Amino acid sequence: MNVQDMLKRHGLKKTPTRTMVLDVFHDTDHALAIADLENELGSNVDRVTLYRTMSSFEEKGLIHKVHDDEGKLKYSLCSHACSEDTHHDNHLHFHCRNCNKTICIERVPVPNVEGLNGYEIHDVYMVANGVCKACKAEA
Ligand SMILES: [Zn+2]
Ligand SMILES: [Zn+2]
Ligand SMILES: [Zn+2]
Repeated sequence: MNVQDMLKRHGLKKTPTRTMVLDVFHDTDHALAIADLENELGSNVDRVTLYRTMSSFEEKGLIHKVHDDEGKLKYSLCSHACSEDTHHDNHLHFHCRNCNKTICIERVPVPNVEGLNGYEIHDVYMVANGVCKACKAEA
């Protein structure tokens, strides 16, 4: 799906910043921190617009937050199943301790932890740490 269709599908107008940010996500296979996007986009985009873009993307079901062992907030593109207010991103994230890249492992769902008596659960994160394929190949 091209960037314009993706924005349209999620009820967002096409703007230069939105297009650039989505392009960066499309060209990468791992999660991105705001700082990574800033490096990538340089002076093409200002910080406030970037933050606003990220929050509307998250709200509309285009990207999801990725928590990894690094403690730095990253974002990844959602699968097509996500839409406004309904994210389906409860999957394992793999974090490489060598290159610090974090990758969505969509085929490994996070276990359902609903119904723990008396505990109110807001978020569940599952992270696997190790060495990614690319780093292993270089070793
Ligand atoms: Zn999502
Ligand atoms: Zn790696
Ligand atoms: Zn993910």
